[in-house]
Amino acid sequence: MATVIDGKAFALRLRDYIRLQVASLKSQRGIAPGLATVLVGTDPASEVYVRNKARQTTEAGMESFQHKLNADTSEAALLELIAKLNADSKVHGILVQLPLPRHIGTERVINAIDPTKDVDGFHVSNVGLLGSGQKAMLPCTPLGCIMMLREQLGSLRGKHAVVVGRSNIVGKPMAQLLLADDCTVTIAHRYTENLPDLCRQADLLVVAVGKAEMIQGDWIKRGATVIDVGINRIERAGEIRLVGDVDFQSTAAVADAITPVPGGVGPMTIACLLFNTLTAFCRIHGLPEPQDAGFALAEGIGVLREFRHAS
Ligand code: NAD
Repeated sequence: MATVIDGKAFALRLRDYIRLQVASLKSQRGIAPGLATVLVGTDPASEVYVRNKARQTTEAGMESFQHKLNADTSEAALLELIAKLNADSKVHGILVQLPLPRHIGTERVINAIDPTKDVDGFHVSNVGLLGSGQKAMLPCTPLGCIMMLREQLGSLRGKHAVVVGRSNIVGKPMAQLLLADDCTVTIAHRYTENLPDLCRQADLLVVAVGKAEMIQGDWIKRGATVIDVGINRIERAGEIRLVGDVDFQSTAAVADAITPVPGGVGPMTIACLLFNTLTAFCRIHGLPEPQDAGFALAEGIGVLREFRHAS
């Protein structure tokens, strides 16, 4: 049976580390990192996500500023709020919960956020910085995945990584991070032919598709490491359950290590949001960033090196 990569425990360690850093910054400087969340409308899933993010922000000792706007809020009013948050010295991270209502231009809103405060890493400047191997704000879900991979495997150099899914928030940045770690990267998507054969070539398989249990155990190379990003709600035996994009049982029988759903990638995503908020605070105040300030040395926490690839 594969090792089950415990994202929940890793996230707890990371959040503990962040809490200690925040406490020390507060005692030295008298200010704490602040994260502003912006939710437009009443989508129940988004409300739960924003509530969890805000709770974990305060648990880490950071300031949480929650902005809840009506579904009919105009794009101009939202952009005005973003401008205020950009200018607010108590706010170091800004998170606009997606999806936004259809009448609002998502790209215009995301690109209006000060890139230094763009803790989701979706601003076009951060996308470009990551793509060109420069210091960027990294998207939370791929960042959490790469931390788990590094902790599990140490060096990723030379491994064949297959990323299934090419979204801007998971698949594409994930591929960039794997490339920066010297993997040979293949990106698959809905038009990829012979996907099972391609997956069978993967030393590392990262799946972000949104299709319940699509990847089967006989698509997996023996000894592979599998990161399942998918979150799908299904009904089984009269109960609603959360499952990933990977069939856990059959895959765990072949793989060397696998993330479970729930308890794998999900908890790491929120922990990385806090990590990014701390990073933004340090950049804004000209302080050493978490990864330069001994993060890699913190006991039991995965290695976070710089993401800068050689040619
Ligand atoms: P998306 O819908 O934006 O992208 C899905 C991708 O899958 C597309 O690139 C598409 O080409 C590809 N795809 C669809 N069908 C396919 C098929 N049959 N074969 C191969 N590729 C196929 O989704 P997303 O935002 O990247 O999210 C993917 C999944 O990850 C969802 O289940 C989402 O809920 C989950 N997710 C989890 C977290 C987390 O924190 N754990 C964060 C973000 C997304």
